[in-house]
Amino acid sequence: MTLLEVRDLHVDFKTRDGLVKAVNGVNYSVEAGETLAVLGESGSGKSVTAQAIMGILDMPPGRIPQGEILFHGNDMLAMSKEERRKIRGAKIAMIFQDALSSLNPVLTVGYQLAEMFRVHQGLRRKEAKAKAVELMERVKIPAAKARVNDYPHQFSGGMRQRIMIAMALALEPDLIIADEPTTALDVTVQAQVMELLADLQREYNMGLILITHDLGVVADVADKIAVMYAGRIVETAPVKELYRTPAHPYTKGLLDSIPRLDRKGQELYAIKGLPPNMATVPGGCAFHPRCPAARDVCRTELPPLAEVGDGRGSACHFWKETIDDRAA
Ligand code: SF4
Repeated sequence: MTLLEVRDLHVDFKTRDGLVKAVNGVNYSVEAGETLAVLGESGSGKSVTAQAIMGILDMPPGRIPQGEILFHGNDMLAMSKEERRKIRGAKIAMIFQDALSSLNPVLTVGYQLAEMFRVHQGLRRKEAKAKAVELMERVKIPAAKARVNDYPHQFSGGMRQRIMIAMALALEPDLIIADEPTTALDVTVQAQVMELLADLQREYNMGLILITHDLGVVADVADKIAVMYAGRIVETAPVKELYRTPAHPYTKGLLDSIPRLDRKGQELYAIKGLPPNMATVPGGCAFHPRCPAARDVCRTELPPLAEVGDGRGSACHFWKETIDDRAA
């Protein structure tokens, strides 16, 4: 069952430097029980797309001139503010990177969790608190009963992120969007939090959109990946195929930048240059100034996202060579 379908989404921002086209014709979908990882460097449009789905874009200066965001087949962009508010939190929940700034520092975590049940389900204080403890246990916070009255700063970064996950899960949404949920955590805690998210997603049969800049963290949890660059999807593929034979030089560069034990002692690869300023995106393929495989045509012609195999797409004029090169 398709939960969410983003169709030809465009998002612009009016800035002092002119119109910034932050998202340019993005298409993706998520099924129940499926994890889509959306990958890209900062400024690629991955978080802006998520904010458009959640209905939390600042408009103005943001604007959605074109596109559809279908949730259970209904276009959320055509809904009233009230209809969208009912979906947000209850049907689609979001987990942000920075738990400390997302939680209220002067309220206990138990109060903040219980608030979800009081406001949305009309539960009484005592019942809501019992549900809060249950949720804290669900996300494996040790001694949940004793810690329900602690404040956010009394928890470690990993535990705070578990509380954010608990808050997202509270109303048993159909879809969770996790925006860089583990970026602020150290590697071991990152792995634990990702494992927890994946377990809960299976248990609740939710859809999950995992937004990240780090290909290394999604290999074990994602079903499919959409790679974004300069506001567009440049590659999309089931996770195994993408890791085995990337069809876009940018994806290939990201994969080569992941530290690997079998390359110990070797210098770590880094994609040269920086992502473009979105107010002055290069013409042709936006990746061409950084691409080791760029040729003349890349500077003038924008490559469309072409189908390059079963469930796979690449926006590179030379995708076949990229795949062959990796497969060789
Ligand atoms: Fe590189 Fe050209 Fe492919 Fe763009 S179209 S990724 S510049 S080879």
